[in-house]
Amino acid sequence: ALPVLAVVGRPNVGKSTLVNRILGRREAVVEDKPGVTRDRVSYEAEWSGRHFMLVDTGGWETDVAGIDAAVARQAEVAVELADAVVFVVDASVGATATDEHVVRLLRRAGKPVVLAANKVDGPRGEADAAALWSLGLGEPHPVSALHGRGTGDLLDAAMRKL
Ligand code: GDP
Ligand code: MG
Repeated sequence: ALPVLAVVGRPNVGKSTLVNRILGRREAVVEDKPGVTRDRVSYEAEWSGRHFMLVDTGGWETDVAGIDAAVARQAEVAVELADAVVFVVDASVGATATDEHVVRLLRRAGKPVVLAANKVDGPRGEADAAALWSLGLGEPHPVSALHGRGTGDLLDAAMRKL
């Protein structure tokens, strides 16, 4: 079986956009509103000659009160099945309480994690990415899933953990 790389993070940080960027096609559903990726969706992907399963996660409740629990549940299942995890944070917003919640879950799971500091669309966002060292997950990799900036370096790092 192929190794599994799961993409987790709170709603609207750009997980599905990143998945599409990695796949080089538009399969994962991207929406401005949180809550569109209904379930975990797996895609066969390839990077630098390595083949792996890429898992997009979602299934979020739309009511704010339920988001934390829903994020945790979906992320937990995906992480359980994964060999390594890409944890996506919106660097333009910074780390939120929900992000911190996922960090604790990832720590408990003990799987290798690569931190994607997304929505760094230009050099001015680099400082926002660096601020995510505070999450304690190691180096934040600045990326723009939307434009492709930094995604190669992110994938190289992910492949070293897979
Ligand atoms: P998900 O809920 O985590 O899967 O997030 P989506 O991939 O659906 O993206 C949510 C919103 O963020 C959409 O409007 C995307 O176009 C936008 N988005 C995703 N990645 C980026 C990025 O790198 N830069 C910017 N500016 N917007 C992004
Ligand atoms: Mg999504």
